[in-house]
Amino acid sequence: MTITFPHMGQVYIPVKALFDDLGVPVVVPPPVSNKTLEIGTRIAPEMACLPMKINLGNYIQSMEKGADTIVLTGSCGPCRFGYYGIVEQEILRDQGYHAEIIILDAPGRDPRDLLRKIRKISGNSPWKNIIRAFIQASKIVEQTDKLQGIFLRKRPRELNKGQTDDLQSRFEKQILQCRGSKEVMRLIRSFQVKADGIPERADANPLRIGLVGEIYTLIEPYVNLNIEYKLGYLGAEVHRGITIADWVKTHLSMDRKYKKQRKEKLKKGANYLNLCIGGHAWETIASTVDYADAGMDGVIQILPFGCMPEIVAESIIPSISRNRSLPVMTLTVDELTGEAGYLTRLEAFVDLLSQKKGTVYE
Ligand code: SF4
Repeated sequence: MTITFPHMGQVYIPVKALFDDLGVPVVVPPPVSNKTLEIGTRIAPEMACLPMKINLGNYIQSMEKGADTIVLTGSCGPCRFGYYGIVEQEILRDQGYHAEIIILDAPGRDPRDLLRKIRKISGNSPWKNIIRAFIQASKIVEQTDKLQGIFLRKRPRELNKGQTDDLQSRFEKQILQCRGSKEVMRLIRSFQVKADGIPERADANPLRIGLVGEIYTLIEPYVNLNIEYKLGYLGAEVHRGITIADWVKTHLSMDRKYKKQRKEKLKKGANYLNLCIGGHAWETIASTVDYADAGMDGVIQILPFGCMPEIVAESIIPSISRNRSLPVMTLTVDELTGEAGYLTRLEAFVDLLSQKKGTVYE
């Protein structure tokens, strides 16, 4: 059994460490590229969500490198994500790929099914090893997010242009050489120290922009056309409305403190939306209100074309923007999104925020 999984930003770091710790061979899908999207677009239904098309491309690229088992998380929520796994399986079979697909659904009525699947993908390791590996992976998720947070803070403040990007790309190359959670954790911590040490301009006073929207689009730089880099270089400090650590803590952990904080944050948006309508639309609304409370200069909502929950959120956001005098821009991405037009919209938005704040961006 050689496992692979969908690519989503830096999720591959904890997932690879998890399987390394369990001694299960794993193929990390190649970074998402035009080729990945081309494969997915060719075999997926035209109106399928963009993340699904990319995931199909990921699986085929990984199978070409020897993977024979695909692990993905499932859902029974109100949006199309609920039937992703099954549809992907059918599409791959139609295309002549016969990898085994293991869908990890939330425990629901029969937690034994989930436990059986976890045991299977762990190569039948003893439970104590499985639990240890999962705990280590969740620590890696948290520390990876922390490192990303440092990069996001440093980029608009760095004294020597490009230093943050250099460090980030060195990290991304070296992390792939690490084996197991201990090595991974050591490398992350060493890069946290290096990133913290990046010298800052004394006069730096960046705009603060919150990113909200569909989780895959927020986290995967290929899909969002590297929005964090672009905004960073336009002089904005980016805050992510949802991170991988949030997803893990919401769905897989018993962290009561986090769950209480999340509940309180969701309550903030209750006047606008007070229930889960699929995807992360509820979080999108609550985070937008939360960013208004935090005095952010602006918010950008980003969603894949046709994403049903985010389209509902998009229709609610103008009310928040009006009531809270918060500039908000929505960006919809699909396989045809052009980089030049996208960058122009970001520049115009940053320009507007700079004028509102009375600062000038270079
Ligand atoms: S959240 Fe949006 S993009 Fe994701 S599966 Fe649901 S409809 Fe598709």
